[in-house]
Amino acid sequence: MKEASATPRQEQQEALATHYADILRLLGEDPAREGLVKTPVRVARAWQELTRGYDEDPIAILRSALFKESYHNMVVVRDIEFYSLCEHHLLPFFGKVHIAYIPNGEITGLSKLARIVDTFSHRLQVQERMTQEIAHCIQEALNPMGVMVVVEARHLCMQMRGVAKQNAYTTTMHHIGAFEHAETRQEFLAQLYRD
Ligand code: ZN
Repeated sequence: MKEASATPRQEQQEALATHYADILRLLGEDPAREGLVKTPVRVARAWQELTRGYDEDPIAILRSALFKESYHNMVVVRDIEFYSLCEHHLLPFFGKVHIAYIPNGEITGLSKLARIVDTFSHRLQVQERMTQEIAHCIQEALNPMGVMVVVEARHLCMQMRGVAKQNAYTTTMHHIGAFEHAETRQEFLAQLYRD
């Protein structure tokens, strides 16, 4: 039987687990006690999963399902759920992403828009940058007449620590092209906030 050598991913997992065991010790815990024995490896695996977006190419994801289409009206996908990690505190922020774009001869599969939200949110982020990155990615992959992204999120770094504001929502927006026109932005925002 051929001996399997450790993949870079396994090596990464082991190194992360070693560091998490150190962190537990530094916090005054005993990483050898029963409840914690497997925690460093579990946390390592969880963090590999939560940062898998570094290994994905969101432009390629959008371009993997391009269709020629003469539809020139606004396409709106709202309420795409996401979970990300703030790069300042390594704590979750999560909420919804709403996307609108106006095709210019090509459309992408709607599920691909949700996929790229996953890609960008599975990296260390700040909400403002994630909003822009999603918009610019769609612009680059589809070359639409315009694109606009709205992100609404709650940040655990605000809710659990520091100012401890329990119910604060942060909204960020980024628009490109046709959405420079206030009327076009309004048409999208009216769909989001009609109730
Ligand atoms: Zn934070």
